[in-house]
Amino acid sequence: MGDKPDQNYAIETLAVRAGQVRTHEGEQSEPLFLTSSFTFKNAAQAAARFKGEEPGNIYSRFTNPTVRTFEQRLAQLEGGERCVATGSGMAAILTTCMALLKGGDHVVCSQSVFGTTVTLFQQWLSKFGVQHSFVPLTDYAAWEKAIRPETKFLFVETPSNPLTEIADIARLSEIAHKHNCLSVVDNCFLTPALQLPLKLGADIVIHSATKYLDGQGRCVGGAIIGGDKMLEPMFGFVRSAGPSLSPFNAWVFLKGLETLGLRMEAHGARALAVAEWLEKQPKVKRVYYPGLPSHPQHQLAKRQQQGCGGIISFEVEGGQPAAWRLIDGVRIFSITANLGDAKSTITHPATTTHWRITPEERARAGITDGLIRISVGLENAEDLKRDLQQALKSI
Ligand SMILES: *Cc1c(COP(=O)(O)O)cnc(C)c1O
Repeated sequence: MGDKPDQNYAIETLAVRAGQVRTHEGEQSEPLFLTSSFTFKNAAQAAARFKGEEPGNIYSRFTNPTVRTFEQRLAQLEGGERCVATGSGMAAILTTCMALLKGGDHVVCSQSVFGTTVTLFQQWLSKFGVQHSFVPLTDYAAWEKAIRPETKFLFVETPSNPLTEIADIARLSEIAHKHNCLSVVDNCFLTPALQLPLKLGADIVIHSATKYLDGQGRCVGGAIIGGDKMLEPMFGFVRSAGPSLSPFNAWVFLKGLETLGLRMEAHGARALAVAEWLEKQPKVKRVYYPGLPSHPQHQLAKRQQQGCGGIISFEVEGGQPAAWRLIDGVRIFSITANLGDAKSTITHPATTTHWRITPEERARAGITDGLIRISVGLENAEDLKRDLQQALKSI
């Protein structure tokens, strides 16, 4: 269960055990190596480490045993050969781009990705001549049409935020491979407990560990998972440029991973109960949750995922004033744009996460003024429903 991936173990076992290497102290739980650098027995050993002739740690920007345990555990959970941890989810996306792209290269990206991912392509990577096209997540003809000779990878986030649209990962990966591109999947919303993109044909998985991998809203971090060779330049970039994960955060994420399967199951059960209830409320026009038979990609979700996770969006009658009144009326839900926390959260996408895009773009993306996104936490589902019910009265 140590360094070697063992695909024969189930995800629950890997989440608790994979990657742990005990020190001479024989500790039961993973130790936290809060040290910036490592010492050598003598000058010759230092030289051998720097030359790479002897494996071992040098400096925590490069490698750290606690970070390494997190990387190995997550790699095994995703069914990948290797994982490179980063200081945030955005650092994982940037590192992937820096490793795979050069000026003039092109990326095709689903238009409904995390807002900062859009900013990264539009504002920063474009400065270095990296080009991008955004396409509707479920329009496979548009994906294929957008591919150019310079396209290096397709970048997809499924389910999407905030409307929980689902893309067929196997189909998109086939399109990518047909055109000699890679397929990169941001698996933040479902985690390996509910979706395994690499098994579906994707080449690289991205995580914001900040969300469900931590699961308790404490730390910011990220990760890239894929083949051993493919991740070598990602490791090289993190080592040189420094968006490394802190050992303390890695240690917190290791604690989070132990309960990942249990938490994702609990988030999903509560979210389904809340979504089914919301669908029956007269002031609610529409509910977006892949676990509902009314969801346009419900069948695909059932085939591709082992569950539907904790994110729900719904549209209330009365536009922004009504949506704001509902948000101001809840008592349990926290008003915050973060998600994947044990604490349920509520947000108004049109005026927070998606305020920068034009009203026309918002309308095209289905982000109406009455749309509310909730991340269902681990509180009691009846309490959450009662909370939404009393808040709905005030709109
Ligand atoms: C939050 C998030 C990110 C960015 O992660 P950070 O840890 O905040 O940098 C990327 N993708 C998705 C889907 C996210 O939800």
